[in-house]
Amino acid sequence: MTWRRPRLSVDAYERGVRACDRGVLAQAVTLIESRDADDAALAQALLGRLLPAAGDAHRVGITGVPGVGKSTFVDELGMRLVAAGKRVAVLAIDPSSQVSGGSILGDKTRMARLALEPGAFIRPSPSGLSPGGVARRTRETMLLCEAAGFDVVLVETVGVGQGETAVADMVDCFLVLVLPGAGDELQGIKKGVFELADVLAVNKADGDGAGRARIALGDLRSALRYLPRRRASWQTQALAVSGRTGAGLGELWAAIEDHRRVLAASGELAQLRAEQQRTWMWSLIRERLEAAFRRHPGVVGAVARLEAAVQAGAITSTAAADELLAAFGSGAPRD
Ligand code: GDP
Repeated sequence: MTWRRPRLSVDAYERGVRACDRGVLAQAVTLIESRDADDAALAQALLGRLLPAAGDAHRVGITGVPGVGKSTFVDELGMRLVAAGKRVAVLAIDPSSQVSGGSILGDKTRMARLALEPGAFIRPSPSGLSPGGVARRTRETMLLCEAAGFDVVLVETVGVGQGETAVADMVDCFLVLVLPGAGDELQGIKKGVFELADVLAVNKADGDGAGRARIALGDLRSALRYLPRRRASWQTQALAVSGRTGAGLGELWAAIEDHRRVLAASGELAQLRAEQQRTWMWSLIRERLEAAFRRHPGVVGAVARLEAAVQAGAITSTAAADELLAAFGSGAPRD
């Protein structure tokens, strides 16, 4: 016998989320994360109702390599935003948790002070899903938080090269935290993460690290000149901050607000969000088509043999793809 979590009615979920009842909000997020087909139908019905109330939050993505100081930074920034009267939701994504088997972000003590704030809501993403699955649930959770009235949604992801694009595709402003003196300035550019950045912050600019941070900031600003402009109306900004002491956080948040103002005035913000919706639709289609493909009995029966044959060089990838697509019965046109 499988245990089933009791569900609320869609009315009760809607009322609770709109009233920012945090218990109901947490249950609604769990509903969205569920893999159960009935839950999925209920979740979509709920999202359909809440969509008109979503979209007002300032959506900010934050990334950086493990150890760069993301949790310390988000804790401090979140506390300042709450003190300024804003309600702050933090959604933490850790795509690498599939490998480690448990979410390193599952631990709320990472943002110890913010976790206790009535004006804040912290939610780690479930582990064990594909990066696409995690991104979908995070995006939908963001919509729930907006309908609940959160003013700022911070979407945090570990900068290990997987989740950044997905996060950059769901936020208004993408912030990259950089470690001073770790050669990060150049590595980041190679990895393409900096190309996604609207704002770059050299973190740990405090104590002994202040000098190193200043040098890193200089290098970063020089490097920025060679990067293509991120948006027609916005040039990527670089600053130095300390999540520990809070130094530079006022200027940083001012830059993030400035970014939103400039993009809203130029019309790029509306355009960006519209484009993100379109991209999201296609990523859902890709995800579901691939899942259906992989489940198809004709594909299941042939995939191992064809993968091995491709790896051994016995047949071309094209021939194998053609055979699998034929088994799927798509009659897919070739490009
Ligand atoms: P995360 O892995 O990116 O979430 O990084 P954490 O916030 O867990 O921080 C990693 C380590 O860096 C911890 O030992 C922190 O105490 C330290 N740290 C975080 N922020 C700062 C900062 O602003 N300045 C200094 N000096 N150390 C920091």
